Amino acid sequence: MKIERVHLDFVELPLTDPFETSVGVSTVKQAWLLTVLADGVHGYAESVADPDPHWNEETHATVYFALKNHLLPRLWGREIEKPEDVAQVLGPIRANFMAKATIEMAVWDWFARAQEVPLWKLLGGDPAKTRIPVGVSIGIQPTTKDLLQAADQFIRLGYRRLKVKIKPGLDVERLTALRQHVGPSIKIMADANSAYRLEDIPNLQTLDDLDLMMLEQPLSHDDLIDHATLARAIKTPVCLDEAIRTPDDARKAIDIGACRIINIKVGRVGGHTMARVIHTMAEERGVPVWCGGMQETGIGRAHNLHMSTMTNFRLPGDTSASDRYFLEDLVDPPFTLNADGSLTVPDGPGIGVTPQPKRLAQYSSFHQELTDQSPVILVPHGMPASF
Ligand code: MG
Repeated sequence: MKIERVHLDFVELPLTDPFETSVGVSTVKQAWLLTVLADGVHGYAESVADPDPHWNEETHATVYFALKNHLLPRLWGREIEKPEDVAQVLGPIRANFMAKATIEMAVWDWFARAQEVPLWKLLGGDPAKTRIPVGVSIGIQPTTKDLLQAADQFIRLGYRRLKVKIKPGLDVERLTALRQHVGPSIKIMADANSAYRLEDIPNLQTLDDLDLMMLEQPLSHDDLIDHATLARAIKTPVCLDEAIRTPDDARKAIDIGACRIINIKVGRVGGHTMARVIHTMAEERGVPVWCGGMQETGIGRAHNLHMSTMTNFRLPGDTSASDRYFLEDLVDPPFTLNADGSLTVPDGPGIGVTPQPKRLAQYSSFHQELTDQSPVILVPHGMPASF
């Protein structure tokens, strides 16, 4: 296929509740929705970038800039024989993983739709994994009581794994209360989003008795070495999220003992091709992975579910039901939680869902069509074109 046109929509979906992590609070989900068009077939994906460079250095602005000026120009007019070609063609562009993933994942969807097969089949997923066990992520709550109430609410809905965002001062006491409250059968994990330092080891050791599934990304977002030191000092398995951006990062992290689990976010590692490489490399080293969420709309959510059918995704993911975050999802029908705490992998062609046109029109605050004729250099008015 040759990409003929790309549509970019900046979508803004209201969240049901403000979501707080150790890096900030959000009340609306914003994302680039990218549609790739060729031969009368559409492919969809979304960017997982945030408005601000807090979780990661990429933002809505950098994703737009990278796509328009650096990534798409490498793809226009090029014959793409298989979806893996995109990662190879974009390889010479350093980092910009979220921007790369946005176009790469849309091309995967396009190929699956063109072949009229579900995406999981093209990715090489396990046909038996038709339902993916999922967990729910609970942001930092104002009080311990609020946390326990939120946990009750999600357990009632069927979730069997609770991920709790923590930061120094809002950790041991809260997690201890939560463990006592929900009992031993509910899986609990904590995500620190890089809020701790090595000096916090004694504090983190006190979590050892809480039977946590894992402690996610406790130290710096770009660190492997200190995580290896911490991993040796605590019993709770360390999981890495932000620090794993490439297959090399994953290999090094596993080989030095920096983690025993990896959270693969497809949108963070450049797309399905690289996610699959990390998945299989971890599998060969006996390290389980799970699929983390970035509060994606139904489009990104569907991509995550298809990737989660690969065999080494052995722990419940973060891909909660649509109503966990949104008053209304972009796709119809929205993703709903099964009674066993799982989501069903859509079985139609491609990712199996499409944006509902009315909702897309309602929630898209900016729309642009790009072709090989679109101007490449985007510079502030008055700056020389070589800027
Ligand atoms: Mg995380």
